[in-house]
Amino acid sequence: MPPLFAGIEAGGTKFVCAVGSGPQDMRAQTTILTTSPTETMSQVIEFLHVQESQHGRLSAIGVAAFGPLDPNLASPTYGYITSTPKPGWGNFNFVGYLKQHFEIPISFDTDVNGAALGEWRWGAAQGLHTFIYITIGTGLGGGAMVNGRLLHGLVHPEMGHMLLPHDRQADPFPGWCPYHGDCFEGLAAGPAMQKRWGQRAETLPDDHPGWELEAHYLALGVANLTCAFSPQRFILGGGVMQRALLFPLVRSKVQQILNGYVQSPQILHEIDQFIVPPALGGRAGVIGAIALAEQALEGH
Ligand code: ADP
Ligand code: ZN
Repeated sequence: MPPLFAGIEAGGTKFVCAVGSGPQDMRAQTTILTTSPTETMSQVIEFLHVQESQHGRLSAIGVAAFGPLDPNLASPTYGYITSTPKPGWGNFNFVGYLKQHFEIPISFDTDVNGAALGEWRWGAAQGLHTFIYITIGTGLGGGAMVNGRLLHGLVHPEMGHMLLPHDRQADPFPGWCPYHGDCFEGLAAGPAMQKRWGQRAETLPDDHPGWELEAHYLALGVANLTCAFSPQRFILGGGVMQRALLFPLVRSKVQQILNGYVQSPQILHEIDQFIVPPALGGRAGVIGAIALAEQALEGH
């Protein structure tokens, strides 16, 4: 019997919880609305207890959560959601709450680091040691594996808040990030498209100029991160990337921006394998949480 893991993908609007040993062996899954911590977490605990009674004891729990959060084991606030504006969740001790109910290893990381680990374990980043996963959805964020380990550093990366060149004549939209206005997320997450063009991104036709502009910002972000981290691959996921035409646009713009400087066949000739969609699709988040649980058991 393989060990049984629980994965909790904790999002701002909903939690997805699953129990299994990997994508080929998912025993149960449920979706719980994100309301108050006590209401949402008690439903999570109840779901996990029911699963244990049906499938046997859990070996570890992985949490891939919205942030900002504290993933550093040595910190006194390890396992907390920290400065989120989401009512009730600021300074919530997520891992502490779970530990009251389960005395098993618990791994706690960002949603995007979780998704990156899931893609590394079972998806589009298998065999790589350094790569970046970016989600472009309601928010925009990135997770990174560097030399075989998920990157945390001081707190955790905030790739969505990088500052990009913004030509206000070509694009007068001021951006919507409450902290920075026209940072990467402020210019390029789904709500930026909606606010700039007055309609949801999924309703913009393929020939709308918004896609060219969106690809421009995504390519600037990818080019900057290429220069900073030298990743072997980018995985671009999230709702906005469901518009498949973005992939060829982003790829060619990345090549134009880098302008032949980074001498790698992956960029110069094999860009189709350098910038790819997630192999786990919409399941990347919760499967990533399962991968975090597996890693917790292995004691990484
Ligand atoms: P979340 O980030 O909340 O988990 P998603 O990753 O689904 O959710 O992202 C939601 C965002 O993606 C919204 O801004 C929405 O307008 C946009 N979106 C969803 N589907 C599409 C689509 N097919 N094409 C372009 N944008 C889309
Ligand atoms: Zn910002």
